[in-house]
Amino acid sequence: MKYGRTYNFSAGPATMPEEVLEEVRDEMMNYRGSGMCVMEMSHRSKVYQQIIDEAEQDLRDLMGIPDNYKVLFIQGGATLQFSMIPMNLMKNGKAVYIETGAWSKKAIAEAKKVGEVIVAASSKDKNYTYIPDCSDLDIPEDTDYVYICENETIHGVTWNKLPNTKGHVLVSDQSSMFLSKPCNVSDYGMIYAGVQKNVGPAGMVVVIIREDLIRDDLTDLPIYLQYKTHADAGSMYNTPNCWAIYVCGKVFKYLKKIGGLSAMEQRNIEKAKVFYDFLDSSEMFQGTVVPEDRSLMNIPFVTGDKDLDAEVIAYTKAAGFENLKGHKSVGGLRASVYNAMPKDGVEALVECLKKFEAEHK
Ligand SMILES: *Cc1c(COP(=O)(O)O)cnc(C)c1O
Repeated sequence: MKYGRTYNFSAGPATMPEEVLEEVRDEMMNYRGSGMCVMEMSHRSKVYQQIIDEAEQDLRDLMGIPDNYKVLFIQGGATLQFSMIPMNLMKNGKAVYIETGAWSKKAIAEAKKVGEVIVAASSKDKNYTYIPDCSDLDIPEDTDYVYICENETIHGVTWNKLPNTKGHVLVSDQSSMFLSKPCNVSDYGMIYAGVQKNVGPAGMVVVIIREDLIRDDLTDLPIYLQYKTHADAGSMYNTPNCWAIYVCGKVFKYLKKIGGLSAMEQRNIEKAKVFYDFLDSSEMFQGTVVPEDRSLMNIPFVTGDKDLDAEVIAYTKAAGFENLKGHKSVGGLRASVYNAMPKDGVEALVECLKKFEAEHK
């Protein structure tokens, strides 16, 4: 591989499009004649304002974000949103959460500190290997919102059909599937995504929120935790994560160039199919998720034998494939095949795993 790079199957921070990294490299010492690097630049400068404005506009174009939604770039990663969401959106102090894996569990724990949380459906009974039926949930009338994690990064399950919220606001954590396929933004009240999974450098979250959900009566809430603060200041109440916004902006342009989110989805489907077809035909390796709810981005799999799993990890690492160890909470193996992972990388990994299997018959 170019530059001696490895195929990196990390769940996050994760692999980036090479041409984006090359552009960043080329602009490192002197950004377009400004005489400085973007990380040295005042966020109040004209040249930086153009970077953030273009990033927002390109994201709006990509996702078709309606005008009555704000796009916010906030620090604190996706994790801070576990708290900001209930703090800002619980008007009646009540929300419905769907428990589908490690990340929705974390969000539930934080929301419970703020108000009443109703877990209306859960897949805990089968160790989070499927998405529960959410076509007819029991949702109290005064529920402020319904919350889902749309792609569970650790457990590898994804929502192919959104829950029936019965008219309530839907809030979705899209961190590990953001921009992996087209998205109808108006189905949601709020979408958010930590960018280090599928888009850019860690330490920032993109929040897409319907304007009427941004409240101005939360004056007791610390100012930085109010969506209004970030919305009113164009994501520059304080110094934003300038670098992450700059790199994400480049990824948005890259996605537009390759044909947008439908083209990206097509590539992702083909890529994941290579891996799932292998799992389904292998005698040694099995996927852990029911086929209907398998993620296109994070693919957990096992041999059924812990020692053999460890051998596989060492074997693939020696062959130049990094970060295939499953999350410590679930064990086994996991291949994260985000937007920037080329199909070649997945095919090469499959060849390596086939070789391992043949040698260990
Ligand atoms: C990684 C991840 C988070 C946490 O992101 P941070 O930026 O580390 O806070 C939250 N939700 C999902 C689905 C994730 O994959």
